[in-house]
Amino acid sequence: MLLTRKSSAGVVPQSRLARSLSGALARTMDRRAFLKRSGVVAGAGAFASQLPFNLIGKAEAQQKQTAESKVEVKRTVCTHCSVGCAVDAVVENGVWVRQEPVFDSPLNLGSHCAKGASVREHGMTEHSHRLKYPMKLVNGKYQRLTWDQALDEISKKMLKIREESGPDALFIVGSSKHSNEQSELLCKWVRLWGSNNTDHQARICHSTTVAGVANTWGYGAMTNSYNDEQNSKCILFFGSNAAEAHPVSMLHTLHAKELGAKVIVVDPRFTRTAAKADMYFRSRSGSDVAFLWGMLYHIFKNGWEDKEYINARVYGMDKVKEEVMKWTPDVVKDVTGLSEQEVRTVAEAMAKNRPSTIVWAMGQTQHTNGNAIVRASCILQLALGNVGVAGGGTNIYRGHDNVQGATDVGPNPDSLPGYYGLAEGSFKHWCRVWNVDFEWLKGRFAPGMMGKPGTTVSRWIDGVLEKNDLIDQDSNIRAMFFWGHAPNSQTRGLEMKMAMDKLDLLVVVDPYPSATAAMAAMPKAADAKYDPNPNRDVYLLPAATQFETEGSATASNRSVQWREKVIEPLFESRSDHAIMYAFAQKLGFADQFLGKKDGKQLLRLIKTAKGYEEPSIEDVLAKEINAGSWTIGYTGQSPERLQAHMRNMHVFDVKTLRARGGKDAKTGYDLTGDYFGLPWPCYGNAALKHPGSPNLYDTSKHVMDGGGNFRANFGVERDGVSLLAADGSASKGADLPFGYPEFDHVLLKKLGWWEELTEDERKEAEGKNWKTDLSGGIQRVVLKNHGCHPFGNAKARAVVWNFPDAVPLHREPLYSPRPDLVAKFPTHDDVKVLWRLPTLFKSVQDKNVADKVAEKFPLILTSGRLVEYEGGGDETRSNPWLAELQQDNYVEINPKAAADRGIRNNEYVWVKTPTGARLKVKAKVTEGVGPDTVFVPFHFAGWWQGVDMLPYYPEGAAPIVRGEAVNTATTYGYDRVTLMQETKTTLCQVERA
Ligand code: SF4
Repeated sequence: MLLTRKSSAGVVPQSRLARSLSGALARTMDRRAFLKRSGVVAGAGAFASQLPFNLIGKAEAQQKQTAESKVEVKRTVCTHCSVGCAVDAVVENGVWVRQEPVFDSPLNLGSHCAKGASVREHGMTEHSHRLKYPMKLVNGKYQRLTWDQALDEISKKMLKIREESGPDALFIVGSSKHSNEQSELLCKWVRLWGSNNTDHQARICHSTTVAGVANTWGYGAMTNSYNDEQNSKCILFFGSNAAEAHPVSMLHTLHAKELGAKVIVVDPRFTRTAAKADMYFRSRSGSDVAFLWGMLYHIFKNGWEDKEYINARVYGMDKVKEEVMKWTPDVVKDVTGLSEQEVRTVAEAMAKNRPSTIVWAMGQTQHTNGNAIVRASCILQLALGNVGVAGGGTNIYRGHDNVQGATDVGPNPDSLPGYYGLAEGSFKHWCRVWNVDFEWLKGRFAPGMMGKPGTTVSRWIDGVLEKNDLIDQDSNIRAMFFWGHAPNSQTRGLEMKMAMDKLDLLVVVDPYPSATAAMAAMPKAADAKYDPNPNRDVYLLPAATQFETEGSATASNRSVQWREKVIEPLFESRSDHAIMYAFAQKLGFADQFLGKKDGKQLLRLIKTAKGYEEPSIEDVLAKEINAGSWTIGYTGQSPERLQAHMRNMHVFDVKTLRARGGKDAKTGYDLTGDYFGLPWPCYGNAALKHPGSPNLYDTSKHVMDGGGNFRANFGVERDGVSLLAADGSASKGADLPFGYPEFDHVLLKKLGWWEELTEDERKEAEGKNWKTDLSGGIQRVVLKNHGCHPFGNAKARAVVWNFPDAVPLHREPLYSPRPDLVAKFPTHDDVKVLWRLPTLFKSVQDKNVADKVAEKFPLILTSGRLVEYEGGGDETRSNPWLAELQQDNYVEINPKAAADRGIRNNEYVWVKTPTGARLKVKAKVTEGVGPDTVFVPFHFAGWWQGVDMLPYYPEGAAPIVRGEAVNTATTYGYDRVTLMQETKTTLCQVERA
C-alpha cells in the first residue's frame, strides 16, 4: 500500500513543479519504510529528517496548472497536539496526494512525529473509517439519513425539549479541535440558544492550570514557549511526558540539553522523556504539592530564593514559607517516597542553574487538588525569580492542537470569548460585537440563569442522573451534543453508559462516529439496574476535519497559525460552522448568528461547492474575535497578518521567534519585529502592529516589544498591603516606572492622557476600560504613547483569597493508597452546589478508608498518553499507519507486582477497580513503574469489559484498533475549584485473565 494515490499526472505535459512532484510521488515510501522510520524516531520527533534528500525538497507555496493537471501546495498545521507543526499538503486535481513537514517552520523545523507524518490519511484511503453521512439509531442499528431529514428531526426534538424543560435541558460539548473561529461561533451559538451549558476538553485537561495560573499572575496560559527552552539552563519535567505527548517539542528540549541545560524528570513512571533526561526520580502519584513544598523547603533553608524579585513582584510569599517549612525532609519522604537527597538535588539544580523552567501537562492538572498543585509550581518559579524571564517561566503543555484557542475564545460554561465573565456588562460587550440585541438575548435564557456558570463536561453525567431537587437548574439534562468529543476521555464510564441511555436526544457531530456511537448503540448490561429511555433518539452527523476548511489555531505557546483549506469536505461531511448555521436556521436564530440587525450583516455567507452555506471564517476572526477579545489581546492577529506569517516562516528566529525582517511578497506587509504567530496578547488593533508576546510578564522589554508585567486583576490593596508592583519594577521604558492599576477612561483623564485619543476614539472610550473600549484607543495610547501595560502592573499572588485554600495544601486523593495519611491530609468537605451540582469529597474519602478499599485494591492506577495516538483516539486508531504501530491496550506492571500475581509479559489480565468495572488488557511487565503503581494508556475504546463493541459501530466506520477504555473503570473525584476529573490517582487490582 502506498502513501499516495496513483494519478494520471505522469502522462500529461507538466510544469517543472508538477514534474518534480510527480517524480517524488513515484518514489514515495511504502508502509514498511514508514513504520521503520516512525518507529526509529518515536518520541524524538525527527521523522522528516530521516527522509531521503530527493523527498525533502522545499515545497513552494505556489500553484501550477496545465490543461489536465492542477497541482497546489496548501499550508496547514497538524491537528494532533499543541506543538503546532506545520504541514505542506500537495493537492493534485483536488486530491491530497502527499505531505511534507515545513522546514521553515520555527516550531517544528521540518520534523513531524508519527501522528503528524500521517495526517493525510484522514479519510483518504479507499477503506476510510470516517463517518460518511448522517445516521440515526433505529432498532439498535445505525441507518443512513439525508442532511435535511437529520436537521429537521433533531431540531424539532430540541425545540420540544426546550418548550417542556427550558434551554438548560440541553448540554453541548464542543471541541478543542475546532478552529478559533468555530470555537467562538459555538460559544455564541449556545448563548443564542439561551444557556451556559457548554464546555470542551480543556475542562478535563487544563482547567486547573487556567484557574490556578490566572489567579497567580494574570493569564492562565503557558508563559514562555517550547522554543524558549533553548534559553533554559535547567528544565524540570514534573507532570509531563513530552517525548510521547508533544514529541516535536523535544527538539527544543534536546537542543537545550546540548547547550548544557540539565534535564530532570520527576514522575511516577520512568517515561520516554525520562530516558532522555540527566536525572530521573520516582514520586508517588498524587503527592505533588508535597514534592514542590519539599523543594521549596531546601530553597528557603539555603537562601536560594530571589529575595529582591519576591519583594518587588510577589505578594504573600511569607505566608507560603510558613506552610513550606512544615515540610521537613522526613515528612516529604513519607508522603512522596523521595529522599532528602533526591529532593535537595532537584531544588539545587533549579536554583543554581537559572533561568530554569518547569514543564507540566496533565500529570499536575488531573487531580482532585490540581488547582493547588499548579499554584505550588507557580510559587516555586516565583521564589526563584524565574517568571517573566527568557529560559524560565512555567511551560505548560496543552493537549489538542487548539485547546489553548478553544479555551481563550470558545464554549466555556463560565465565560464568553476572551474570558469575559457572565456579568451583564460582558454580555452587553459581546452583544455589541455580535450585533445582537441584548434584551433579545436575555429573553432566551431561563430566568436567573444568564449569569450562572453552566454544567461542566466532567459532570454532564450527573446533570442527567442526579436527583432533580439537588441540581441548581430547573430540569435535568435531557439532550446532549458531542460536538467533537471522545467519551472515553472522561472518567466513570459505567455511569456514563447509564446517562447516555437516559437521555431523550444524543447527537454526535464528528468526522468519526467515535466511541459515543458504539456506547449509545450497545444494549445495557443484563444486570444493570436502570431503565433506558424508550423515547431516546441518537443521531450521527459527519463533520469535516480541519484539513477540509480554513481557520486559525493557537499552539500551546499562544502563537496563532492560519490553516488553508487543503481539500473539500469528504463524503457528505460539512464544516462545523456550516452545521452550526444550519441548526441556527432551523432553531430560529440564524439572523442573530450572522449578526444581522439594523440593516447590517456582520458575517458574510459563503456558498460551498456542495451547495449549502457557511459563515465566512475570515469574517469571524476579523469582525468578532479581533473586534471583541481585548482582554487577552486576540485583537491584533488579523487574518492578513497571520497569513503573511504562514507564507514567510523562514524570517523568524528559532530561539526568540522574532522576525529578523522582510516583507510579505503578496501583500507588502512588513514582518520586521513580529513574533511568530503573534503570540497573544497581541494588543490593540492590527494597525497598532503590536508584535505579540513571546514570554509573558517580561519587564526587560518595552510593551511594544512584547514586554509586560504581572496583571492588576485583584484590586490594589489587601489587608492594608499594596498589591501593586514595587517602584522600579515596571516594564522597560514605561512612563509609570512603578505599580499601577488597570486603565480605564477615568485613569486616562487623571493622567492627562485622554486628549491623546482621537475624537472618534473618545466617543467610544467614554465610560469604558481597556477591555470594553471597542475603538482600541485606550490600549493604543497606553501602550504606544506611554509604554505602559493596559492591565496595570501588580504583584503576582502567592496567596489567594478566592480559592478554598489560600496557600496551596497537600490533600490526599479520594482513593488514597495511604489511608494512614488521610487523617493528616484530608480532602475538602463535600459541597452542596458546585457548578450546578452537589460534589462529594470527604464523604467518599472517609468511606474508602472505612471500607478498607486500599487493601482490596492495593495498586495505584494512573493513565496517560502514547506517542502513536491522540486523545480518545478515534481518529488516530482509524489511521492505518498509526494503527499498525500500537495494536493492543495494555497495563504497565512492575515485575514484582506481576510475579506476586502470577502474571507474565504479554498475557491478558483483568484490571479491576472499586467501581465494579473490569478491563481486559495485555500485561506489559516493566520496571518503568514501581511495584505499587500500574499505568494504562487512555486512547483506547471499542471494548467493553472484555467484549468487542464492533457490532455497535456504524458499518465500515469502526476504528481499526479497538481496546478497553481505561476510563470505563476510573472512579469519582473532582478538583474543588474547576471540577477537573481525577485520572492520575485511583486504585485497582490486577489479576490474570
Ligand atoms: S502530533 Fe504534535 S508533535 Fe506530532 S507532528 Fe503533530 S503537532 Fe507535531
